[in-house]
Amino acid sequence: MAAPLRILVFGKQGSGKGTLATRLHQRLGLPHVSTGDMLRESAASGSEFGRRVAAIMDAGELVPDDVMEGVVRERLAAPDAAAGFILDGYPRTPGQAAFLDDLLAPEGITVAVELQVADEVVRARIVNRRVCSSCGAIYAAGRDASADTGDCEACGGEVVQRADDTEEAVDARLAAYAALTEPLLDYYSGRGLLERISGEGDPDAIADGAVELVEGRRS
Ligand code: AMP
Repeated sequence: MAAPLRILVFGKQGSGKGTLATRLHQRLGLPHVSTGDMLRESAASGSEFGRRVAAIMDAGELVPDDVMEGVVRERLAAPDAAAGFILDGYPRTPGQAAFLDDLLAPEGITVAVELQVADEVVRARIVNRRVCSSCGAIYAAGRDASADTGDCEACGGEVVQRADDTEEAVDARLAAYAALTEPLLDYYSGRGLLERISGEGDPDAIADGAVELVEGRRS
């Protein structure tokens, strides 16, 4: 059996990270594991765990590492992740990166991809971003019909604006990215595992380039 393809995707809010992860999922046939989506699902379920998670997310804080460990361990142990996965939103802290190393030893991750987009571009994109509350498809107001009608063309679900996709929230999240994520990128870069690609341009061309890079890492 070919070595598993374990891909991490990083990028600022509004960089197109979710779109890239979805396209990688379609082209490589690997599950797109988004910890943000998983936590939002838990929150929506109304379970006791979900209510705890919702309170943390609403406060704009990170779910504690030990809680995330259970979530990630269980998801990555599922049969559909045996051939690999596209992990989106994890790790977010040095502790999470260390946990992932232990979990995936000895092979570890295949590659970490960072989509690079200038802060000004991100600010402009974020105000227009809409997302399907059922399947997670991402649309842009003024560009995609589903964003304007509110009906997801992929699954018929409701297309909404995320509560944290406001201009006021963007600056705080850009600062958090610099403080929390940049050190993680250095960590993967230092081990020769980081590929930085431009996130400005045609999403299909970006995905083509990413697939090529990722396949090139398969050994
Ligand atoms: P996201 O959709 O990736 O921006 O995640 C939305 C929210 O879910 C974050 O603001 C956190 O509250 C929580 N979350 C997602 N992933 C993680 C993680 N790896 N560690 C801690 N909290 C997370």
